[in-house]
Amino acid sequence: MQQTSTTMRETVQQVWKKRPMIISGPCSAETEEQVLETATRLAKTGKVDILRAGIWKPRTRPGSFEGIGTKGLPWMQQAKKITGLPVTVEVATAKQVEDALTFDVDVLWIGARTTVNPFSVQDVADALRGVDVPVLIKNPINPDLELWTGAVERVAKAGIKQIGLIHRGFSSYGNTEYRNAPMWHLAIEMKRRNPELLMINDPSHISGRRDILLDVAQKAIDLDMDGLIIESHIDPDKAWSDAKQQITPERLGEMIGQIVWRKEDINSEEFHAALEKLRQQINHLDDELMQILSQRMSIAEKIGEYKKNNNITILQTNRWNEILERAFKKGEKLNLSKEFITKYFDAVHMESINHQNKIMNS
Ligand code: PEP
Ligand code: MN
Repeated sequence: MQQTSTTMRETVQQVWKKRPMIISGPCSAETEEQVLETATRLAKTGKVDILRAGIWKPRTRPGSFEGIGTKGLPWMQQAKKITGLPVTVEVATAKQVEDALTFDVDVLWIGARTTVNPFSVQDVADALRGVDVPVLIKNPINPDLELWTGAVERVAKAGIKQIGLIHRGFSSYGNTEYRNAPMWHLAIEMKRRNPELLMINDPSHISGRRDILLDVAQKAIDLDMDGLIIESHIDPDKAWSDAKQQITPERLGEMIGQIVWRKEDINSEEFHAALEKLRQQINHLDDELMQILSQRMSIAEKIGEYKKNNNITILQTNRWNEILERAFKKGEKLNLSKEFITKYFDAVHMESINHQNKIMNS
């Protein structure tokens, strides 16, 4: 599958426009054999557009495998030669950018631990000045769209024309279901603010484990994301980093085949009319909800008045637990998840307290 008719640069241009764009490869390049075998087996699935591997690994704790380093770059070059697929690696410093470009890496990505640090992003951006290479920017580890936007701006200001985003979830203390909470609304908001940028989802780093990879990938595709970056390894359990979340190249091929690819839109008048009608119903219900919430706040203010006159505190934990318990029971019958009820009542409760507080201090 060696490139003959088109140059690698043209291939990258085509891949950039392809939907969905699929990136796969090991979390880390470990040995030459591992990189080449992964690449060959991924190419064989026919589902992969770009090969990835971490060469320098930003590890949370010292002592973990910190990447094979520059020595792994010729392996990526060789993987490209064998498969005809473009390659991408993570860069976090100017020197890494320079090394990656020396070895013809086709696409660079900025990792989550780099996006959080404007000094590092600027360092990478300065090294990119005058270079024509596509750059993917992962979301910062903390849920802050301004940091993510700042990184995009720094890279764009350096003259990089092709910029894409990678949604890899956000770190949160005590989270057990996901390694990194997806906080889908943040990816959606980032896409809304930057409709011209690609948005790739990284189910591997969101999930942190194999069993929910497909669910996360499907959700990303249902949200109209432009592609996926998924880690794969020839012997996942023995991977030197992120072993729990990696899958074999063959499983990757199978998984991509299992995803239901939906269209954002279709050209049917009937469909649009039906959708419009349902959307109007939603708008109507939202208006009613707001009315009811506003009434709820007026009552909260009356309670605030009453508490003020009797000189008691706003927050009474027992009463709050009672409200939640009641809501959980009702919610179960109404097909509303506990997660939603908790979030909704947290927000309503906060607003209520603010209203009562206003009265108390008036
Ligand atoms: C990676 O892609 O292997 C990686 C280190 O990811 P992140 O920056 O999202 O943690
Ligand atoms: Mn990884």
